[in-house]
Amino acid sequence: MTYPNTRLYIGGEWRDASDGRTLDVVNPVSGEVIGQVAHASKIDLEHAVDAVAEGFRKWSAVSAFERYKIIRKAASLLRDRLEEAARLLTTDEGKPLAESRLEVNSCADLLDWFAEEGRRTYGRIIPARSLSVQQYAVKEPVGPAVGFTPWNFPMSQIVRKLGPAISAGCSIVIKGPEEAPAAPAVLFECLHEAGVPAGVVNLVFGTPSQISEFLVPHPAIRKVSFTGSVQVGKHLASLAGLHMKRVTMELGGHAPVIVADDANIDAATTALVASKFRNAGQVCISPTRFLIQSKVHDEFLDVFVKKTKALKVGDGLAEGTQVGPLINERRRTAVESLIEDAVNKGAKIETGGHRIGNSGYFFEPTILSGVNTEMRAMNEEPFGPVALVKSFTDLDEAITEAGRLPFGLGSYAWTSSASSARRLAQGVQAGMLSINHIGLGLPETPYGGVRDSGYGYEGGSEALEAYMNTRFITHDAV
Ligand code: NAD
Repeated sequence: MTYPNTRLYIGGEWRDASDGRTLDVVNPVSGEVIGQVAHASKIDLEHAVDAVAEGFRKWSAVSAFERYKIIRKAASLLRDRLEEAARLLTTDEGKPLAESRLEVNSCADLLDWFAEEGRRTYGRIIPARSLSVQQYAVKEPVGPAVGFTPWNFPMSQIVRKLGPAISAGCSIVIKGPEEAPAAPAVLFECLHEAGVPAGVVNLVFGTPSQISEFLVPHPAIRKVSFTGSVQVGKHLASLAGLHMKRVTMELGGHAPVIVADDANIDAATTALVASKFRNAGQVCISPTRFLIQSKVHDEFLDVFVKKTKALKVGDGLAEGTQVGPLINERRRTAVESLIEDAVNKGAKIETGGHRIGNSGYFFEPTILSGVNTEMRAMNEEPFGPVALVKSFTDLDEAITEAGRLPFGLGSYAWTSSASSARRLAQGVQAGMLSINHIGLGLPETPYGGVRDSGYGYEGGSEALEAYMNTRFITHDAV
Protein backbone atom coordinates (compact mmCIF):
# COMPACT_ATOMS: atom_id res chain seq x y z
CA MET A 1 0.00 0.00 0.00
CA THR A 2 1.51 3.38 -0.97
CA TYR A 3 1.17 5.99 1.75
CA PRO A 4 -1.36 8.72 0.84
CA ASN A 5 -0.63 12.37 1.59
CA THR A 6 -3.51 14.05 3.43
CA ARG A 7 -5.22 17.23 2.26
CA LEU A 8 -7.75 19.51 3.92
CA TYR A 9 -11.44 18.63 3.60
CA ILE A 10 -13.44 21.87 3.47
CA GLY A 11 -16.93 22.43 2.09
CA GLY A 12 -17.14 18.89 0.70
CA GLU A 13 -13.83 19.11 -1.25
CA TRP A 14 -10.31 17.84 -0.69
CA ARG A 15 -7.83 20.64 -1.21
CA ASP A 16 -4.22 21.64 -0.63
CA ALA A 17 -3.46 24.53 1.69
CA SER A 18 -3.98 27.88 -0.10
CA ASP A 19 -0.27 28.65 0.31
CA GLY A 20 0.77 25.07 -0.52
CA ARG A 21 2.32 24.54 2.92
CA THR A 22 2.66 20.99 4.27
CA LEU A 23 3.95 19.26 7.39
CA ASP A 24 5.93 16.02 7.43
CA VAL A 25 4.34 12.82 8.71
CA VAL A 26 6.85 10.57 10.48
CA ASN A 27 6.58 6.81 10.96
CA PRO A 28 7.33 6.13 14.65
CA VAL A 29 8.80 2.70 13.84
CA SER A 30 11.62 4.12 11.70
CA GLY A 31 11.65 7.82 12.58
CA GLU A 32 11.51 8.50 8.83
CA VAL A 33 9.29 10.90 6.91
CA ILE A 34 6.65 8.90 5.04
CA GLY A 35 4.44 11.64 3.64
CA GLN A 36 2.87 15.04 4.09
CA VAL A 37 -0.23 16.63 5.53
CA ALA A 38 -1.56 20.00 4.37
CA HIS A 39 -1.09 22.89 6.81
CA ALA A 40 -4.12 25.21 6.84
CA SER A 41 -3.47 28.92 6.36
CA LYS A 42 -5.68 31.72 7.72
CA ILE A 43 -7.45 31.82 4.34
CA ASP A 44 -8.22 28.09 4.60
CA LEU A 45 -9.61 28.60 8.10
CA GLU A 46 -11.83 31.41 6.83
CA HIS A 47 -13.12 29.03 4.16
CA ALA A 48 -13.69 26.38 6.81
CA VAL A 49 -15.78 28.80 8.90
CA ASP A 50 -17.88 29.81 5.87
CA ALA A 51 -18.34 26.14 5.00
CA VAL A 52 -19.31 25.01 8.51
CA ALA A 53 -21.81 27.89 8.83
CA GLU A 54 -23.40 26.95 5.50
CA GLY A 55 -23.25 23.26 6.50
CA PHE A 56 -25.21 24.04 9.65
CA ARG A 57 -27.94 25.84 7.70
CA LYS A 58 -28.38 22.76 5.49
CA TRP A 59 -27.98 19.98 8.06
CA SER A 60 -30.16 21.47 10.79
CA ALA A 61 -32.99 21.46 8.23
CA VAL A 62 -32.55 17.71 7.52
CA SER A 63 -34.85 15.46 9.56
CA ALA A 64 -33.38 13.36 12.36
CA PHE A 65 -34.41 10.22 10.46
CA GLU A 66 -32.56 11.27 7.28
CA ARG A 67 -29.48 12.18 9.31
CA TYR A 68 -29.66 8.76 10.97
CA LYS A 69 -29.71 6.96 7.61
CA ILE A 70 -26.71 8.89 6.28
CA ILE A 71 -24.62 8.40 9.43
CA ARG A 72 -25.43 4.67 9.55
CA LYS A 73 -24.33 4.41 5.94
CA ALA A 74 -21.00 6.11 6.78
CA ALA A 75 -20.50 3.53 9.57
CA SER A 76 -21.11 0.71 7.11
CA LEU A 77 -18.68 2.19 4.53
CA LEU A 78 -16.07 2.50 7.27
CA ARG A 79 -16.46 -1.19 8.14
CA ASP A 80 -15.88 -1.99 4.45
CA ARG A 81 -12.56 -0.12 4.62
CA LEU A 82 -11.52 -1.47 8.02
CA GLU A 83 -8.27 -3.12 6.93
CA GLU A 84 -7.03 -0.11 4.94
CA ALA A 85 -7.89 2.35 7.72
CA ALA A 86 -6.33 0.12 10.40
CA ARG A 87 -3.06 -0.16 8.46
CA LEU A 88 -2.89 3.62 8.08
CA LEU A 89 -3.57 4.09 11.80
CA THR A 90 -0.72 1.75 12.70
CA THR A 91 1.64 3.29 10.14
CA ASP A 92 1.09 6.82 11.49
CA GLU A 93 0.63 6.21 15.18
CA GLY A 94 2.43 2.94 15.92
CA LYS A 95 -0.18 0.90 17.79
CA PRO A 96 -0.37 -2.83 16.91
CA LEU A 97 -2.64 -3.67 13.99
CA ALA A 98 -5.05 -5.61 16.22
CA GLU A 99 -5.59 -2.45 18.31
CA SER A 100 -6.07 -0.35 15.16
CA ARG A 101 -8.72 -2.77 13.90
CA LEU A 102 -10.50 -2.43 17.24
CA GLU A 103 -10.30 1.36 16.96
CA VAL A 104 -11.81 1.45 13.46
CA ASN A 105 -14.54 -1.01 14.46
CA SER A 106 -15.29 1.03 17.56
CA CYS A 107 -15.66 4.13 15.35
CA ALA A 108 -18.30 2.38 13.24
CA ASP A 109 -20.07 1.27 16.45
CA LEU A 110 -19.91 4.82 17.86
CA LEU A 111 -21.37 6.27 14.65
CA ASP A 112 -24.20 3.72 14.78
CA TRP A 113 -24.94 4.54 18.42
CA PHE A 114 -24.91 8.33 17.93
CA ALA A 115 -27.02 8.02 14.77
CA GLU A 116 -29.63 6.05 16.74
CA GLU A 117 -29.55 8.47 19.67
CA GLY A 118 -30.10 11.39 17.27
CA ARG A 119 -33.61 10.00 16.69
CA ARG A 120 -34.35 10.23 20.41
CA THR A 121 -33.53 13.86 21.18
CA TYR A 122 -36.92 14.30 22.78
CA GLY A 123 -38.26 17.52 24.23
CA ARG A 124 -41.17 17.50 26.70
CA ILE A 125 -44.53 19.04 27.48
CA ILE A 126 -44.61 20.62 30.93
CA PRO A 127 -48.00 20.83 32.71
CA ALA A 128 -48.98 24.48 32.88
CA ARG A 129 -50.60 26.39 35.77
CA SER A 130 -53.41 27.58 33.53
CA LEU A 131 -55.53 25.40 31.24
CA SER A 132 -55.18 27.88 28.38
CA VAL A 133 -51.36 27.73 28.46
CA GLN A 134 -49.26 25.15 26.70
CA GLN A 135 -45.59 25.02 27.65
CA TYR A 136 -42.93 22.84 26.17
CA ALA A 137 -39.18 22.36 25.97
CA VAL A 138 -37.47 21.49 22.68
CA LYS A 139 -33.95 20.32 21.90
CA GLU A 140 -32.11 22.10 19.14
CA PRO A 141 -28.57 21.77 17.82
CA VAL A 142 -26.22 24.41 19.30
CA GLY A 143 -24.79 25.39 15.91
CA PRO A 144 -21.43 25.02 14.15
CA ALA A 145 -18.85 23.35 16.41
CA VAL A 146 -15.09 22.92 16.43
CA GLY A 147 -13.31 19.83 17.77
CA PHE A 148 -9.60 19.56 18.55
CA THR A 149 -8.44 15.94 18.59
CA PRO A 150 -5.12 14.32 19.52
CA TRP A 151 -2.92 11.67 17.94
CA ASN A 152 -3.30 8.78 20.41
CA PHE A 153 -6.62 7.58 18.94
CA PRO A 154 -6.51 9.45 15.63
CA MET A 155 -9.89 8.23 14.41
CA SER A 156 -11.96 7.50 17.50
CA GLN A 157 -11.18 10.83 19.19
CA ILE A 158 -12.66 12.49 16.10
CA VAL A 159 -15.75 10.26 16.08
CA ARG A 160 -16.44 10.98 19.77
CA LYS A 161 -16.90 14.66 18.80
CA LEU A 162 -18.13 14.51 15.22
CA GLY A 163 -20.59 11.64 15.85
CA PRO A 164 -22.71 13.34 18.52
CA ALA A 165 -22.36 16.72 16.79
CA ILE A 166 -23.81 15.63 13.44
CA SER A 167 -26.35 13.30 15.06
CA ALA A 168 -27.69 16.27 17.01
CA GLY A 169 -27.88 18.37 13.82
CA CYS A 170 -24.70 20.43 14.26
CA SER A 171 -21.94 20.94 11.72
CA ILE A 172 -18.30 20.69 12.77
CA VAL A 173 -14.72 21.59 11.89
CA ILE A 174 -12.25 19.03 13.20
CA LYS A 175 -8.65 20.05 13.83
CA GLY A 176 -7.18 16.58 13.43
CA PRO A 177 -3.85 15.15 14.57
CA GLU A 178 -0.98 16.30 12.35
CA GLU A 179 1.05 13.30 13.59
CA ALA A 180 -1.52 10.78 12.31
CA PRO A 181 -3.73 12.26 9.58
CA ALA A 182 -4.23 9.42 7.08
CA ALA A 183 -6.86 7.28 8.84
CA PRO A 184 -8.99 10.35 9.71
CA ALA A 185 -9.01 11.12 5.97
CA VAL A 186 -10.55 7.67 5.33
CA LEU A 187 -13.28 8.47 7.85
CA PHE A 188 -14.10 11.74 6.05
CA GLU A 189 -14.15 9.93 2.68
CA CYS A 190 -16.76 7.56 4.13
CA LEU A 191 -18.85 10.47 5.45
CA HIS A 192 -18.64 12.13 2.02
CA GLU A 193 -19.61 8.97 0.16
CA ALA A 194 -22.49 8.33 2.56
CA GLY A 195 -24.01 11.65 1.55
CA VAL A 196 -23.14 14.03 4.39
CA PRO A 197 -23.73 17.40 2.65
CA ALA A 198 -20.86 19.78 1.88
CA GLY A 199 -19.74 21.86 4.86
CA VAL A 200 -21.35 19.68 7.55
CA VAL A 201 -18.03 18.01 8.39
CA ASN A 202 -14.67 19.65 7.73
CA LEU A 203 -11.14 18.47 8.48
CA VAL A 204 -8.16 20.78 8.91
CA PHE A 205 -4.59 20.40 10.13
CA GLY A 206 -1.95 22.99 10.90
CA THR A 207 -0.45 24.82 13.86
CA PRO A 208 -2.82 23.97 16.77
CA SER A 209 -2.48 27.30 18.58
CA GLN A 210 -3.12 29.32 15.39
CA ILE A 211 -6.20 27.28 14.59
CA SER A 212 -7.67 27.51 18.09
CA GLU A 213 -6.97 31.26 18.33
CA PHE A 214 -8.86 31.80 15.09
CA LEU A 215 -11.74 29.33 15.45
CA VAL A 216 -12.61 29.41 19.18
CA PRO A 217 -13.42 33.17 19.34
CA HIS A 218 -15.02 33.23 15.87
CA PRO A 219 -18.67 34.36 16.18
CA ALA A 220 -19.88 31.63 13.78
CA ILE A 221 -18.63 28.86 16.13
CA ARG A 222 -21.02 28.00 18.98
CA LYS A 223 -19.38 24.99 20.60
CA VAL A 224 -15.80 23.94 21.40
CA SER A 225 -14.63 20.45 22.26
CA PHE A 226 -11.02 19.55 23.06
CA THR A 227 -9.16 16.36 23.95
CA GLY A 228 -5.57 16.70 25.12
CA SER A 229 -3.47 17.87 28.03
CA VAL A 230 -4.84 19.67 31.11
CA GLN A 231 -2.61 22.67 30.45
CA VAL A 232 -3.89 23.24 26.89
CA GLY A 233 -7.46 22.41 28.00
CA LYS A 234 -7.43 25.13 30.65
CA HIS A 235 -6.14 27.62 28.10
CA LEU A 236 -8.85 26.74 25.56
CA ALA A 237 -11.61 26.64 28.20
CA SER A 238 -10.72 30.18 29.26
CA LEU A 239 -10.57 31.37 25.66
CA ALA A 240 -14.00 29.80 25.02
CA GLY A 241 -15.31 31.31 28.27
CA LEU A 242 -14.29 34.79 27.14
CA HIS A 243 -16.48 34.31 24.08
CA MET A 244 -19.31 32.48 25.88
CA LYS A 245 -18.98 29.24 23.91
CA ARG A 246 -20.32 25.88 25.08
CA VAL A 247 -17.35 23.64 26.00
CA THR A 248 -16.47 19.97 26.43
CA MET A 249 -13.03 19.20 27.86
CA GLU A 250 -11.61 15.67 27.78
CA LEU A 251 -8.25 16.09 29.48
CA GLY A 252 -5.51 14.05 31.07
CA GLY A 253 -5.65 11.62 33.98
CA HIS A 254 -3.43 9.62 36.31
CA ALA A 255 -5.61 6.57 36.80
CA PRO A 256 -5.37 4.80 40.17
CA VAL A 257 -5.79 1.02 40.36
CA ILE A 258 -6.71 -0.33 43.79
CA VAL A 259 -6.09 -4.05 44.27
CA ALA A 260 -7.42 -5.38 47.59
CA ASP A 261 -6.14 -8.42 49.53
CA ASP A 262 -9.17 -10.44 48.42
CA ALA A 263 -8.71 -9.76 44.68
CA ASN A 264 -8.28 -12.44 42.03
CA ILE A 265 -4.62 -11.69 41.26
CA ASP A 266 -4.43 -13.80 38.13
CA ALA A 267 -7.45 -12.14 36.54
CA ALA A 268 -6.36 -8.67 37.70
CA THR A 269 -2.82 -8.94 36.35
CA THR A 270 -3.94 -10.33 32.97
CA ALA A 271 -6.45 -7.52 32.48
CA LEU A 272 -4.11 -4.83 33.77
CA VAL A 273 -1.07 -5.81 31.68
CA ALA A 274 -3.23 -5.62 28.54
CA SER A 275 -4.77 -2.33 29.61
CA LYS A 276 -1.60 -0.65 30.92
CA PHE A 277 0.46 -1.32 27.80
CA ARG A 278 -2.33 -0.79 25.24
CA ASN A 279 -1.18 1.87 22.80
CA ALA A 280 2.16 1.85 24.69
CA GLY A 281 0.42 3.52 27.63
CA GLN A 282 -0.51 6.62 25.60
CA VAL A 283 -4.11 6.52 26.76
CA CYS A 284 -5.81 9.08 29.00
CA ILE A 285 -7.45 6.30 31.07
CA SER A 286 -4.30 4.15 31.18
CA PRO A 287 -3.92 2.48 34.62
CA THR A 288 -0.98 4.28 36.24
CA ARG A 289 -0.81 4.28 40.05
CA PHE A 290 -1.08 0.64 41.12
CA LEU A 291 -2.05 0.65 44.81
CA ILE A 292 -1.77 -2.90 46.10
CA GLN A 293 -2.88 -4.05 49.56
CA SER A 294 0.13 -5.25 51.57
CA LYS A 295 -0.83 -8.95 51.92
CA VAL A 296 -0.88 -9.46 48.14
CA HIS A 297 1.65 -6.79 47.15
CA ASP A 298 4.59 -9.16 46.53
CA GLU A 299 2.48 -11.78 44.77
CA PHE A 300 0.82 -9.15 42.55
CA LEU A 301 4.17 -7.57 41.66
CA ASP A 302 5.73 -10.94 40.84
CA VAL A 303 2.92 -12.01 38.47
CA PHE A 304 2.53 -8.51 36.99
CA VAL A 305 6.26 -8.36 36.17
CA LYS A 306 6.28 -11.88 34.66
CA LYS A 307 3.33 -11.11 32.38
CA THR A 308 4.80 -7.75 31.39
CA LYS A 309 8.16 -9.32 30.50
CA ALA A 310 6.35 -11.65 28.11
CA LEU A 311 4.99 -8.76 26.00
CA LYS A 312 6.30 -8.56 22.46
CA VAL A 313 7.41 -5.03 21.50
CA GLY A 314 7.89 -4.20 17.83
CA ASP A 315 6.53 -2.85 14.58
CA GLY A 316 2.75 -2.70 14.90
CA LEU A 317 2.35 -4.11 11.39
CA ALA A 318 4.36 -7.26 12.27
CA GLU A 319 2.51 -10.40 13.30
CA GLY A 320 2.33 -10.92 17.07
CA THR A 321 3.38 -7.41 18.16
CA GLN A 322 1.65 -6.39 21.41
CA VAL A 323 3.32 -3.04 22.09
CA GLY A 324 4.39 -0.55 19.41
CA PRO A 325 6.64 2.53 19.60
CA LEU A 326 5.80 5.84 21.25
CA ILE A 327 4.51 8.59 18.97
CA ASN A 328 7.70 10.69 18.85
CA GLU A 329 11.05 11.43 20.43
CA ARG A 330 9.53 14.16 22.66
CA ARG A 331 7.27 11.59 24.33
CA ARG A 332 10.14 9.12 24.74
CA THR A 333 12.36 11.74 26.38
CA ALA A 334 9.49 12.74 28.70
CA VAL A 335 8.96 9.12 29.81
CA GLU A 336 12.68 8.60 30.29
CA SER A 337 13.03 11.69 32.45
CA LEU A 338 10.12 10.63 34.72
CA ILE A 339 11.79 7.23 35.25
CA GLU A 340 15.18 8.79 35.94
CA ASP A 341 13.66 11.12 38.52
CA ALA A 342 11.82 8.24 40.23
CA VAL A 343 14.95 6.07 40.35
CA ASN A 344 16.99 8.95 41.77
CA LYS A 345 14.38 9.26 44.52
CA GLY A 346 14.52 5.57 45.42
CA ALA A 347 12.20 3.69 43.01
CA LYS A 348 13.25 0.22 41.86
CA ILE A 349 12.98 -0.79 38.20
CA GLU A 350 11.32 -4.23 38.25
CA THR A 351 11.38 -4.53 34.47
CA GLY A 352 12.05 -2.23 31.50
CA GLY A 353 13.18 1.34 32.06
CA HIS A 354 15.06 1.89 28.79
CA ARG A 355 14.64 2.84 25.17
CA ILE A 356 14.98 0.05 22.62
CA GLY A 357 17.08 0.04 19.44
CA ASN A 358 18.47 2.78 17.24
CA SER A 359 15.51 3.45 15.00
CA GLY A 360 12.06 4.73 15.86
CA TYR A 361 10.72 5.56 19.30
CA PHE A 362 10.50 2.23 21.10
CA PHE A 363 10.51 2.04 24.89
CA GLU A 364 10.45 -1.01 27.16
CA PRO A 365 7.25 -1.76 29.11
CA THR A 366 8.31 -0.56 32.55
CA ILE A 367 7.28 -1.33 36.11
CA LEU A 368 8.60 0.70 39.04
CA SER A 369 8.10 -0.39 42.66
CA GLY A 370 8.82 1.40 45.94
CA VAL A 371 7.47 4.66 44.56
CA ASN A 372 6.52 7.65 46.70
CA THR A 373 4.57 10.87 46.20
CA GLU A 374 7.76 12.98 45.94
CA MET A 375 8.42 11.47 42.52
CA ARG A 376 7.32 13.42 39.44
CA ALA A 377 5.86 10.26 37.89
CA MET A 378 3.45 9.98 40.84
CA ASN A 379 2.15 13.48 40.08
CA GLU A 380 2.46 13.99 36.32
CA GLU A 381 0.67 11.88 33.73
CA PRO A 382 3.37 9.54 32.29
CA PHE A 383 1.42 8.97 29.04
CA GLY A 384 3.73 6.08 28.24
CA PRO A 385 4.45 2.43 29.14
CA VAL A 386 5.12 3.03 32.85
CA ALA A 387 3.34 1.37 35.79
CA LEU A 388 3.99 2.63 39.34
CA VAL A 389 3.42 0.10 42.12
CA LYS A 390 2.89 1.13 45.76
CA SER A 391 1.56 -0.84 48.71
CA PHE A 392 -1.16 0.19 51.17
CA THR A 393 -2.61 -1.32 54.34
CA ASP A 394 -6.13 0.05 54.72
CA LEU A 395 -8.70 0.66 51.95
CA ASP A 396 -9.31 4.24 53.14
CA GLU A 397 -5.59 4.97 52.70
CA ALA A 398 -5.84 3.79 49.07
CA ILE A 399 -8.98 5.86 48.47
CA THR A 400 -7.20 8.94 49.85
CA GLU A 401 -4.18 8.32 47.62
CA ALA A 402 -6.47 7.80 44.61
CA GLY A 403 -7.98 11.26 45.20
CA ARG A 404 -4.70 13.02 46.06
CA LEU A 405 -4.10 14.36 42.55
CA PRO A 406 -6.29 17.00 40.90
CA PHE A 407 -7.21 14.58 38.08
CA GLY A 408 -10.35 12.42 38.02
CA LEU A 409 -10.82 10.49 34.79
CA GLY A 410 -10.48 6.68 34.73
CA SER A 411 -10.00 4.51 37.83
CA TYR A 412 -9.93 0.78 38.51
CA ALA A 413 -10.34 -1.59 41.44
CA TRP A 414 -10.15 -5.31 42.09
CA THR A 415 -11.85 -6.92 45.08
CA SER A 416 -14.08 -9.91 45.70
CA SER A 417 -15.85 -8.18 48.60
CA ALA A 418 -19.17 -6.51 47.84
CA SER A 419 -18.78 -4.10 50.74
CA SER A 420 -15.27 -3.04 49.62
CA ALA A 421 -16.60 -2.54 46.07
CA ARG A 422 -19.29 -0.31 47.50
CA ARG A 423 -16.80 1.71 49.58
CA LEU A 424 -14.67 2.18 46.47
CA ALA A 425 -17.65 3.19 44.33
CA GLN A 426 -18.55 5.85 46.88
CA GLY A 427 -15.03 6.99 47.75
CA VAL A 428 -12.99 7.16 44.55
CA GLN A 429 -13.33 10.60 42.99
CA ALA A 430 -13.20 9.91 39.28
CA GLY A 431 -15.48 10.31 36.30
CA MET A 432 -15.31 6.56 35.66
CA LEU A 433 -14.61 3.53 37.88
CA SER A 434 -14.25 -0.02 36.58
CA ILE A 435 -14.36 -2.81 39.20
CA ASN A 436 -13.03 -6.34 38.52
CA HIS A 437 -12.75 -5.79 34.76
CA ILE A 438 -11.69 -3.20 32.20
CA GLY A 439 -15.01 -1.81 31.10
CA LEU A 440 -14.63 1.83 30.06
CA GLY A 441 -15.30 3.51 26.74
CA LEU A 442 -18.27 1.73 25.14
CA PRO A 443 -20.49 3.86 22.86
CA GLU A 444 -23.50 3.54 25.16
CA THR A 445 -21.72 4.47 28.42
CA PRO A 446 -20.82 7.98 29.65
CA TYR A 447 -17.18 8.86 29.07
CA GLY A 448 -15.71 11.87 30.84
CA GLY A 449 -13.80 13.26 33.77
CA VAL A 450 -14.20 15.47 36.82
CA ARG A 451 -11.96 18.14 38.38
CA ASP A 452 -8.82 18.88 36.28
CA SER A 453 -9.67 16.04 33.90
CA GLY A 454 -12.36 18.24 32.40
CA TYR A 455 -16.13 18.33 32.00
CA GLY A 456 -18.74 16.97 29.64
CA TYR A 457 -19.21 13.48 28.23
CA GLU A 458 -18.30 11.81 24.96
CA GLY A 459 -20.25 8.60 25.28
CA GLY A 460 -23.79 7.54 26.13
CA SER A 461 -26.83 9.76 25.65
CA GLU A 462 -25.00 12.51 27.59
CA ALA A 463 -22.73 12.97 24.55
CA LEU A 464 -25.57 14.41 22.45
CA GLU A 465 -26.68 16.80 25.18
CA ALA A 466 -23.34 18.58 24.74
CA TYR A 467 -24.36 19.59 21.20
CA MET A 468 -27.91 20.70 22.00
CA ASN A 469 -29.65 23.69 23.52
CA THR A 470 -32.91 23.29 25.42
CA ARG A 471 -35.39 25.99 24.43
CA PHE A 472 -38.53 26.67 26.42
CA ILE A 473 -41.74 27.88 24.78
CA THR A 474 -44.91 28.89 26.57
CA HIS A 475 -48.07 29.67 24.64
CA ASP A 476 -51.34 31.08 25.92
CA ALA A 477 -54.44 30.71 23.78
CA VAL A 478 -55.75 34.09 22.60
P1 NAD B 1 0.54 18.78 23.83
O1 NAD B 1 0.05 19.37 25.11
O2 NAD B 1 1.54 19.54 23.03
O3 NAD B 1 -0.70 18.49 22.85
C1 NAD B 1 -1.80 17.75 23.24
C2 NAD B 1 -2.87 17.96 22.16
O4 NAD B 1 -3.30 19.31 22.21
C3 NAD B 1 -2.39 17.77 20.73
O5 NAD B 1 -3.41 17.13 20.01
C4 NAD B 1 -2.17 19.18 20.19
O6 NAD B 1 -2.41 19.26 18.80
C5 NAD B 1 -3.20 19.95 20.94
N1 NAD B 1 -2.85 21.33 21.19
C6 NAD B 1 -1.72 21.82 21.76
N2 NAD B 1 -1.76 23.15 21.88
C7 NAD B 1 -2.96 23.55 21.37
C8 NAD B 1 -3.62 24.80 21.21
N3 NAD B 1 -3.06 25.96 21.63
N4 NAD B 1 -4.84 24.83 20.64
C9 NAD B 1 -5.44 23.68 20.23
N5 NAD B 1 -4.88 22.47 20.36
C10 NAD B 1 -3.66 22.39 20.93
O7 NAD B 1 1.10 17.36 24.20
P2 NAD B 1 1.60 16.12 23.33
O8 NAD B 1 3.08 15.97 23.56
O9 NAD B 1 1.09 16.07 21.96
O10 NAD B 1 0.87 15.01 24.16
C11 NAD B 1 1.29 14.73 25.44
C12 NAD B 1 0.32 15.15 26.51
O11 NAD B 1 -0.96 15.47 26.01
C13 NAD B 1 0.14 13.98 27.45
O12 NAD B 1 0.95 14.15 28.57
C14 NAD B 1 -1.31 13.94 27.77
O13 NAD B 1 -1.53 14.53 29.02
C15 NAD B 1 -1.97 14.82 26.76
N6 NAD B 1 -2.82 14.07 25.84
C16 NAD B 1 -4.01 13.63 26.32
C17 NAD B 1 -4.84 12.92 25.50
C18 NAD B 1 -6.16 12.43 25.99
O14 NAD B 1 -6.69 11.50 25.42
N7 NAD B 1 -6.76 13.05 27.01
C19 NAD B 1 -4.47 12.64 24.20
C20 NAD B 1 -3.24 13.09 23.74
C21 NAD B 1 -2.42 13.82 24.58
